[in-house]
Amino acid sequence: MPTPDVREKQSSRERWRWQFDATAAFAPSFEQPPVLDKQLIEQNRRFDAALENMSQGLCMFDADRRLLVWNKRYLEIFGLRTDHLCVGMSQRQIIEILVNLGRYAAGATVETLSEGTRTSLSEGQATSILRELADGRTVSATHRAMTGGGWVATFEDVTERRRNEDRIAYMARHDALTDLPNRVSLHEFGNAILDQPMLDRSLAVLCLDLDRFKLVNDGFGHALGDRLLRCVAHRLRRQVRNGATVARVGGDEFVVLHLVKDLKEAEALTRRLIAAVSAPYDFDGLRIEIGMSAGIVLSGKMDRDVTQLLQSADLALYQAKLDGRGVFRVFEPQMDESARARLGLERELREALINGRFEVHYQPLVELSSNDVVGLEALVRWRHAERGLVSPAMFIPIAEETGLIVPLGEWVLRRACEDAKRWPGHVCVAVNVSAHQLRQRTFATMVLSVLSESGLDPKRLELEITESVLLDETDANLETLHVLRAHGIRIAMDDFGTGYSSISYLRRFPFDKIKIDRSFVREIGEKPEAAAIIRAIIGLGQSLNMTTLVEGIETDMQRQAVLAEGAHEMQGFLFSPPRPAPEVDALFGVKHSKTRAA
Ligand code: C2E
Ligand code: MG
Ligand code: MG
Repeated sequence: MPTPDVREKQSSRERWRWQFDATAAFAPSFEQPPVLDKQLIEQNRRFDAALENMSQGLCMFDADRRLLVWNKRYLEIFGLRTDHLCVGMSQRQIIEILVNLGRYAAGATVETLSEGTRTSLSEGQATSILRELADGRTVSATHRAMTGGGWVATFEDVTERRRNEDRIAYMARHDALTDLPNRVSLHEFGNAILDQPMLDRSLAVLCLDLDRFKLVNDGFGHALGDRLLRCVAHRLRRQVRNGATVARVGGDEFVVLHLVKDLKEAEALTRRLIAAVSAPYDFDGLRIEIGMSAGIVLSGKMDRDVTQLLQSADLALYQAKLDGRGVFRVFEPQMDESARARLGLERELREALINGRFEVHYQPLVELSSNDVVGLEALVRWRHAERGLVSPAMFIPIAEETGLIVPLGEWVLRRACEDAKRWPGHVCVAVNVSAHQLRQRTFATMVLSVLSESGLDPKRLELEITESVLLDETDANLETLHVLRAHGIRIAMDDFGTGYSSISYLRRFPFDKIKIDRSFVREIGEKPEAAAIIRAIIGLGQSLNMTTLVEGIETDMQRQAVLAEGAHEMQGFLFSPPRPAPEVDALFGVKHSKTRAA
C-alpha cells in the first residue's frame, strides 16, 4: 500500500501528467520547446476537467493490472476517500479495500469480483457486468481493453434505471387496479406448473366471473366499481393457499390456479370462493351484494399448456352463467360441441341479417269486450334454408349475447312501423325490446328517427319490455323510457309474473300496459290459485290505471275466465297465431306493398 504522504501528492492533475508521462506518445521532454509544454499543460487541464465532470466513474489500468487513472465519480460511487487509492496499486488491492469496507452485497468475494473482470475482458468487446452493492444500489461496470494492454473500466449507478425497468416489467405482468397477476403471468405460472415432471397433484383452473357487476359500475359509478374489484381480489387471495395464483384477466373476470388432490377439493375451494365473494360489502355505510359464477377444469397427465385448460374452464363458466349464476360447473367435453354449435349459429345469424332472411309476423291484440283487433305484436322469425321458420326463442338469446340484437331490433322496429302505417289509424303495433338494446345510449334517438322516417304516429307504437330490462335498471335506462313515453310512445311490461320482482317494478315506472304471462292462463281450470293470481294482477293494474292484457289464450273457456276477471285485452292462438304481414293487410282490407328484406 502506498504511504499517506505519497498518496497526498496524487492530485488529479498529477495523475494525468503521470499518465501522459507514462505513455510514450505524449511523453514530455525537457528538450521540447516551451510552447509545446504549454499546449500539453492546457491539454492536461482539459482532460482533467472532462474526467472530473463525467457522470460515470472511471479507472484505467495498465497491462500489469496497475491503476493509472481514476476520477472523483468513481470514488463517489464506491464511497472511497481520496486517500484510499494511489497510482500503481493493483486492481486486486482496490477490490480488497472495497470488500473490507463492506461495499459489495453479501456473497461477493475478492476472487469472484476479480474473476468477473477477467471474464468480462476476455470476451473481447466491452461487456457490462452488474455489481450489487451492500446499500441496495446496482452499479454497471464496463471493461474496455486498450491496445497495448491494460483496460479502462467505467462504472455507472444504474439503480434508478433498474428500478424503473423492474417497475415496467412488473406493470406488464400485473393488473394495476388489484395488483394481481394478469393474463401474461397467468400463462407463465400455469405452464411452469404443468412443466413440472412427476406432478403428483392436478392443476385446478377456475374461471370466475362476477354476476351483474355492470349494475354496480353503472349504478354507483366507476370509483365504487373499482373499490369493489379490489375487495373481491383481496377476498379471493385470502381463500387460497400460498403458492396458488389469483389473476385478474378482464373487467370482472378472475382466474385461480390451484394444485389439488382431486375434483372434490377443487369444488370445495370454488364453493368457498363463491361464498367469500358473495358476502355483503360495506362501502361507507353503503351495502353492496354481488354474486359470482365459476367454471372448473382439472389438468390431466398429458396437459402441458394452460391455454386449452383456460378455454375449457371458460366454457364451464359460460354454462354456469346459463344455469342461473351464483353456481359453478365442471367442464364436460360436450360443452365444447355446444360452444361450436353456438359459434356456427352466431355466424349464420350475421349472414341472415345481411342477406335478408328475417321476417316479421304479427299477432293480434284483441279487446275482450268488443273482440276488436286494437293492436298487433311484431314477432320476428328467421327463414332458414334448411330449418324452415326458426322461432325467436331460439335465436334471440344469442342475438342478445352477441350484440346482434341491436341491428336486428332496429330492423324489426322499422319494418313494424312501415307495416303499421298501412293499417287503420286506431290499430297500434307492439314491438319487443331487449335490455341490451335499451342500454344503447342512442336507443331513444333511434326509435324517434324510425318513427319520423316511417311517418307513424308515436301514439300507435307500443314498446314491450321484460323484467330483465328492469333488472338491469339504471337511471339511464329509466330515463330513456321516460323520454320515449313523453313522446307519446306507450310502454308495456311483458311476461308479467315470470320474475319475482315484477310487482316492485310497477312502482318504479308508470307502465301503460301489463301483459300477464301465459303460464297463468295455462293453469286456469287446473289450479284454483291461477285465476286468483290473474284477478289480483288485473286489480293491481286497474288501480294503477294500466291496461291489462292476458297472453296465451287458447280456449274459449280461458277467454271467458279472463273476461270475467275484468282484463281489457287478450292475445293468443284462440284468436290468431302470429301471421305474416300480407295476411294482416288482408285482414284490414289494405293492399300489401312489397316489403324490403332485412
Ligand atoms: P313474447 O313477447 O311474450 O311473445 C309472445 C309469444 O307467445 C310469441 O312467441 C307468440 O307466438 C307466443 N304465443 C302467442 N299466443 C300464444 C298461445 O296462445 N299459446 C302459446 N303457447 N304461445 C303463444 P314467439 O313468437 O316464439 O316469441 C317468443 C319471444 O321472443 C317473445 O315473447 C319475445 O320475448 C321474443 N321476441 C320475438 N320477437 C322479438 C323481437 O323482435 N325482439 C325481441 N327483443 N324479442 C323478440
Ligand atoms: Mg312481447
Ligand atoms: Mg310475452
